[in-house]
Amino acid sequence: MHLERIEMSGFKSFADKTVIEFDEGVTAVVGPNGSGKSNLSEAVRWVLGEQSAKNLRGKKMDDIVFAGSQTRKPVNIAEVTLILNNEDGFLPLEFSEVSITRRYNRNGDSDCFINKKPCRLKDITELLMDSGIGKDSFSMISQGKVEQIFQNKPEDRRVIFEEAAGVARYKNRKTSAERKLSQTEEHLNRVEDILHEIN
Ligand code: ATP
Repeated sequence: MHLERIEMSGFKSFADKTVIEFDEGVTAVVGPNGSGKSNLSEAVRWVLGEQSAKNLRGKKMDDIVFAGSQTRKPVNIAEVTLILNNEDGFLPLEFSEVSITRRYNRNGDSDCFINKKPCRLKDITELLMDSGIGKDSFSMISQGKVEQIFQNKPEDRRVIFEEAAGVARYKNRKTSAERKLSQTEEHLNRVEDILHEIN
């Protein structure tokens, strides 16, 4: 599996529709300061499920939408699509090409799509979890991240190994099952209280 193409419009400095094709192997993105290199990597991270505006160098999610320039009016919608080559079946979907889209509107609406079909952000993160390309994986190392890993507490560093070893998905499911279990217990208690009152 590899990233074949990214299509963006309205994302940060990419006001117009911009399509970038990636060949297999190494791709270097070069350009003057402020030309949008980091914005490009943030666009990828955002589609992969980043939910923190701060991690995208913003204060609020609106900051990812093109805010206008001296010559252009702001836009209302940011949309980014990643097109992944899945000929090797690495992602568990019956498609040789998988597109993942995320769209955000200043009015707060937010949409996600896998192969153009609406889905939840959770579906995207679950699809990519343990694939090595999730938002928290180490396929994208931003400036300062290496230093941060060295300074991490051991328990935080353990999360890195868990992601690499492929157990993150199961830990996540366990936490969600435990949450449901405790909610169910609360409901049962409530039912018992009511039964007690009736009798
Ligand atoms: P450097 O080499 O200095 O790290 P870079 O090529 O990585 O630079 P970026 O940080 O990706 O550049 O891009 C910064 C530019 O993106 C700035 O000019 C900033 O004004 C612009 N920018 C960021 N967010 C928005 C937005 N929401 N709307 C319009 N422009 C934006």
